[in-house]
Amino acid sequence: MSFVFCAHHYVTPDLKKIAIESGGVVGDSLEIAKFCMNSSSSEILIAGSRFMGETAKILAPEKKIYMLSKDASCSLTDDVDFNDFRDFRDFVLSNPSKKVVVYANSSAEIKSLADYVVTSSNACQIIEHIDNLGYEVVFGTDSNLAKFVIKKTGIEFDYFHGTCVVHEEFNLEKTLGLKTLHPDAEIVSHPEAGLPILDASDYVGSTSGMINYIKNSTSREFIVITDKSLILSLSDAFPEKSFIPGPTGKESASCTSCARCPHMKLNESSLLDNFRENEVILSPELISSAKVGLMNMLDF
Ligand code: SF4
Repeated sequence: MSFVFCAHHYVTPDLKKIAIESGGVVGDSLEIAKFCMNSSSSEILIAGSRFMGETAKILAPEKKIYMLSKDASCSLTDDVDFNDFRDFRDFVLSNPSKKVVVYANSSAEIKSLADYVVTSSNACQIIEHIDNLGYEVVFGTDSNLAKFVIKKTGIEFDYFHGTCVVHEEFNLEKTLGLKTLHPDAEIVSHPEAGLPILDASDYVGSTSGMINYIKNSTSREFIVITDKSLILSLSDAFPEKSFIPGPTGKESASCTSCARCPHMKLNESSLLDNFRENEVILSPELISSAKVGLMNMLDF
């Protein structure tokens, strides 16, 4: 292969296998971003969401970055309008002692407004760091992650309302019902899920954090509150353990309550032949402004 291939944990096993064989990486968004920045390859293909390709391009603008699916996006980028977020930021930034913190699951345009970008694996630590420096925080784009960080750190801040269409569908009552049936199972959750479920969880963390927790836990059974595709990877990696998909289906349940990201599932191996049609192109000005918050995260 003349390119390396990065696959997010939420894509199908065949794509993850190709990523490993290409010398690429299977990881969460932070791991993919670091890999793209440090890779010696001049061409990188990403099976994931468009914001991951934009992040790679911002961090490695000299490289050609391609998306396997040009249509694979994310509700946290599609549903957060740039002008709305800028207006929100301007309103709360009337106090100059505030720093804008933006979740990595955001468009390049939204990142261009950020002092810091964070992922679910480092949001608590970076916001504690900003707080220790004496600044208040303005946060976007995921309100469930915001509520989790506020609860975990005790630091209050304003946040913009956006949600992940997959994680907001997990259902507390059904999860507790499963726990009654499987009392020894640990509940392991991604912080994009709602706070009541996170409060009931034994572990809350990024996708890679969840995998590491399960790896090191002595438990043999887990209720997994994240995209269902992760169950396949977990079953392959830890055949001695069993995994129960987190239950979905709130009153407002929609077609998204299958616990499968409608964007991530657009990544299919049949698209491999034409991926060079899907190069990520960003203006130098946007790359320059969006890089500030990302570098502040990576330098942390
Ligand atoms: S699972 Fe949620 S946060 Fe992740 S890409 Fe899909 S919509 Fe976005």
